[in-house]
Amino acid sequence: MISFARTALAALLVGAISLAPSMTTSAQAQDAPPSLDSAEFNACLNNLRITPAFKAISPAAFARFTGDLTPDPSVLVLLNRQPEFTMPVWDYLAVLVDDERVGDGRAAHDKWRDVLAQIEQQTGVAPNVVIGVWGVESNFGQNLGGRPLVQSLATLSCFGRRQTYFRGEFAAALRILQEGHIVPEKLVGSWAGAFGQTQFMPSTFFRSAVDFDGDGRRDIVDSVPDALASTAKFLQNAGYRRGEPWGFEVRLPAGFDTSGASRKNKQPIAAWRASGLTLADGSPLPDSLPSAGLLIPARGGPAFLVGRNFDSLYSYNASENYALAIAHLSNLVAQSGNGTAFSTPWPTDDVGLSRAQNRELQILLLARGHDIGSADGMIGAKTREAIKTEQQRLGHKVDGRAGQKLLGELR
Ligand code: CA
Repeated sequence: MISFARTALAALLVGAISLAPSMTTSAQAQDAPPSLDSAEFNACLNNLRITPAFKAISPAAFARFTGDLTPDPSVLVLLNRQPEFTMPVWDYLAVLVDDERVGDGRAAHDKWRDVLAQIEQQTGVAPNVVIGVWGVESNFGQNLGGRPLVQSLATLSCFGRRQTYFRGEFAAALRILQEGHIVPEKLVGSWAGAFGQTQFMPSTFFRSAVDFDGDGRRDIVDSVPDALASTAKFLQNAGYRRGEPWGFEVRLPAGFDTSGASRKNKQPIAAWRASGLTLADGSPLPDSLPSAGLLIPARGGPAFLVGRNFDSLYSYNASENYALAIAHLSNLVAQSGNGTAFSTPWPTDDVGLSRAQNRELQILLLARGHDIGSADGMIGAKTREAIKTEQQRLGHKVDGRAGQKLLGELR
């Protein structure tokens, strides 16, 4: 929705980024949850109740859904956390678009074929694109986040920065409950309030959620048809154009000046063709896009021409790498064949790991006596520390990053 409100999966990825060694002590001190005054919290809720933002919420509903609330200090830690470094795009893509997710996506594409066809008829959004968003946002409904939304949003409405923003989301969350779309115990999600299979913020829910299965509730938590139709509605609202591809990987002519490359700097396809660009296999650029911008996520790596539909994917999460993950996954689920690589490799000799490889790495670390808990495929702080120890032993760069080189050596 917005970069601020990370999705469940993005939160997991960010949570997986370790702290730089020199930052560990101060950052840990910073990470201690503040103690929050419950009297102050209750007074804040009482004041909020009568503000214009909450005018759609009846006093009875407000009392019912906030009656036993206590503040949750841990969301303030997450609100203030700054990522220590940006994950390289090839690590990002390796975990978000792995063989497992492509396989699950193809199965979902097949299982929901009829629903997806009706959704495309109504919104213009292609089935494989809806599946791509679903897979990246919530792993096809498997990662919804587990934090009670009302508690998180109430806390963020009364403490910390951006209270005005969160008050709007808090009010919208209460309205979702008041209107009976979702039952309270199912309204859980990320710390910032993204929830359900589409990972919508509550305000986005009221702009884009759809009751597709016709039961009168817009249930993006438990109804797959509602969730898929809501995703398509979001993309339609964001300017998705029926029948256009998101873009395609391209080959640049030798010596091409990429300094002005930007998704936003769109030119007619004919102009790109005249500049010598072709599809990745060398064939001429198709006319399926009226205009496109040149996206180069990493200098020397794969290049893409992207159109208006890529921008609609971007608006889902305000990250070009995120949009590329969705776009790439959407292509792969609509094709057959193995592998997830682009035609041009990433400019690295140590690409990232899939979720299966993360699990394998963790099993190898456990076997070497590292206390990292269970091999869940999520690279958390304990796994990072164990990786650093092994990197030191092997004479690698000590950064806690899970990559192919380390996995190869530990095998
Ligand atoms: Ca419904």
